[in-house]
Amino acid sequence: MKLIIASNNAGKIREIKAILGEKFESITSLREEGIDHETVEDGKTFLENARKKAREIMQLSGCAALADDSGLCVNALGGAPGIYSARFAGVHGDDEANNDLLLQKLQKKTDRTAYYDCAMVLVFPDGREISAEGKFFGEITRERRGSGGFGYDPLFYLPEKGCTVAEMDADEKNRISHRAKALQNLLKQL
Ligand code: IMP
Repeated sequence: MKLIIASNNAGKIREIKAILGEKFESITSLREEGIDHETVEDGKTFLENARKKAREIMQLSGCAALADDSGLCVNALGGAPGIYSARFAGVHGDDEANNDLLLQKLQKKTDRTAYYDCAMVLVFPDGREISAEGKFFGEITRERRGSGGFGYDPLFYLPEKGCTVAEMDADEKNRISHRAKALQNLLKQL
């Protein structure tokens, strides 16, 4: 089966391709397919947004489409930025500004616990759909550490590993992340 990843986020695409490996006949991104499309993410949950992205790309391409909607939920901020993670500081995908704003909002907070949440939806050309979720628990550091991963990874600390996700080996992130868990759950349903 040919699969299109319904995303323009290079970090997500890289990780999804690495996690899925050889499980599909081919896995391509929107850019590789020449599809110039940005879904309006107006859902109230990660699942609603992922479903909307997957359905739109399946309809545009006629191929099976996989969408990931994910984000960072910080307990001291009541779950924010959550579904607004990509545009927390205003500009979609400005990771540096998002990280700066997160550090600023947590300056006086002692509870630094947080988790990444990921909803994955796979829509087939006949309209059938399967979905799954994955969570990844950690804490928010007081300064950036590491250069791997993307998004909030330089601030996302794993106490049991003693490092941030940006300091981890990419393969290790792809074994234990919210994205890895969601994809593993999804594959079980195939
Ligand atoms: P989406 O494209 O609306 O799903 O937004 C995803 C956003 O959540 C990204 O732009 C990042 O800010 C954040 N995010 C999701 N997954 C990760 C991850 O694995 N590492 C770091 N940030 C992530």
